[in-house]
Amino acid sequence: MVTVTTSAETAAETYAEIGVIGGSGFYSFLDDVREVAVTTPYGSPSDSLFLGELAGRRVAFLPRHGRGHHLPPHRINYRANLWALRSVGVRQVMGPCAVGGLRQEYGPGTLLVPDQLVDRTKARVGTYFDGEPLPDGTVPNVVHTTFADPYCPEGRAVALAAARGRGWEPVDGGTMVVIEGPRFSTRAESRWHASMGWSVVGMTGHPEAPLARELGLCYTSMALVTDLDAGAETGEGVSHTEVLRVFGENIGRLREVLFDAVGALPKTEGRACLCTRANEGWDLGIELP
Ligand SMILES: [Zn+2]
Repeated sequence: MVTVTTSAETAAETYAEIGVIGGSGFYSFLDDVREVAVTTPYGSPSDSLFLGELAGRRVAFLPRHGRGHHLPPHRINYRANLWALRSVGVRQVMGPCAVGGLRQEYGPGTLLVPDQLVDRTKARVGTYFDGEPLPDGTVPNVVHTTFADPYCPEGRAVALAAARGRGWEPVDGGTMVVIEGPRFSTRAESRWHASMGWSVVGMTGHPEAPLARELGLCYTSMALVTDLDAGAETGEGVSHTEVLRVFGENIGRLREVLFDAVGALPKTEGRACLCTRANEGWDLGIELP
């Protein structure tokens, strides 16, 4: 059940410590979900936040493409999405997504928890520190955020353990290359991505991950392979119908693994990872929410 929030809500009801960027397939099963509309200095996020309690944790779900899946990957307001999550208290983010496999052994139904990222997008704003003034008049400084290891090591360990706990042996590590889309890759592009040693190809993992890092948020990607990418398969290439079919077949167990992972994430105040200190030593110039 979804309750729409009014201005009279208490702070506790609009608080969440963990964010999940993923569609309604993840939160529609929760008993008591509260819809909270959030505005940010960067405009509107993809949709309202849907707040609920899960495994004793306060969680905010955000449909990455909007609830009707109307936003293509290149038109998602990634800055507003991460900012909105942080503004309700979120400090750890899980980012499940659908990807194409770049190796024969990473066929449909594979769950891969990447440890590296390659950005092949072309036209997306990938930083908060771009010198543009915020509506309150403050101006972000030039900041170069530490990003050698783009994903939270604690979140990754939790996601891997959760998958194993459900009998779904995950691929531990690998590189996600993110393309601009919305079209799928040509065979030549796909063969090139594979020849570079990269593991899976997606369309949303960048700039989601670096923006989370700029805000000091832990970010963990959980990549569900829905198809073999064009260079790795021998048929007619990737089709959307096939992607949807495989996603539908796996959403149940992906949700189970995700929920187990959410419950097992470290307490926000007890985090020992570097994610929170990525901007250490920098004067940001702006106040993070
Ligand atoms: Zn972290």
